[in-house]
Amino acid sequence: MKALVYDGGLRVQEVPKPEPVAGEALVRVLSAGICNTDLELLRGYMGFRGVLGHEFVGMVEHAENEALRGKRVVGEINCVCHTCHFCQIEMPHHCLNRTVLGILGRNGAFAEYLTLPEENLHLAPNSVRDDVAVFTEPVAAAFRIVEQVKFTPADRVVVLGDGKLGQLVAQVLWLHTKNLICVGKHRWKLDLLKNLGITTAHTDDLIERGVDIVVEATGSYEGFSRALELVRPEGTLVLKTTVAHPTALDLSVPVINEIKVIGSRCGPFRPALEALALGNVEVRPMVTEIYPLSEGVRAMEHAGTPGAMKILLHM
Ligand SMILES: [Zn+2]
Ligand SMILES: [Zn+2]
Repeated sequence: MKALVYDGGLRVQEVPKPEPVAGEALVRVLSAGICNTDLELLRGYMGFRGVLGHEFVGMVEHAENEALRGKRVVGEINCVCHTCHFCQIEMPHHCLNRTVLGILGRNGAFAEYLTLPEENLHLAPNSVRDDVAVFTEPVAAAFRIVEQVKFTPADRVVVLGDGKLGQLVAQVLWLHTKNLICVGKHRWKLDLLKNLGITTAHTDDLIERGVDIVVEATGSYEGFSRALELVRPEGTLVLKTTVAHPTALDLSVPVINEIKVIGSRCGPFRPALEALALGNVEVRPMVTEIYPLSEGVRAMEHAGTPGAMKILLHM
């Protein structure tokens, strides 16, 4: 089968079709999304080598579970052991022995086929078309914040970053509070949110300090500094992006102001699918371009340009 492989260089090549082991399903990928994490992997994040890609929708071609066979599915990306300490205390996404689709020790979704444990798969509702279902994983990541931070209607929330993840975070949090501003650098990206009725501001605009909850989704030093400037004493700072290269940060501010810093990674698929099915999260305007898998290298290059939001691959 064809796959987009990173082995220090990036190319589309023929690789063996994956063979599902016990408990795994074989999925024919229909569509996959390029995420900033994929771009970070090319810069050395996680030291990953193999088939990239962790956002997908596909058809189950082989599964032990009859309910999955021939069905259109999306999939959670952490594959866990069920026996280690963190699995035992119901924190499976921190499994010590986990593999992660297209990120850690497991080939990913930029391929004609992938395998995943059957327990990771969720049926995609018929009403959710491929180009929308493919967003389930990043929308779930946005819903993770709602699991981690309790919002009250009085809380002021600022989301820093108008990129793919920032937009999804802003949309998901908007479902919980209207006391929110998404701050970004790009007028055209902010306009996508404005069109949904979400309050936005440009990075150069003055934003009142003393914010209760700040979500950092720029992955940049500037974003982190701004977040620390905005968040109130004893407020909450949620870090939502992963980057390959650590930056030197002055951590005295969070100490002095007793800020709760919360790292936030993967989230629940069920509310994400529901939000996509109901149209509560609108992802279609975020799709910049669709490439065939054979043009995967060009697609990745495009995804790394400032004019791109979501780039999809169709298999
Ligand atoms: Zn991602
Ligand atoms: Zn485990």
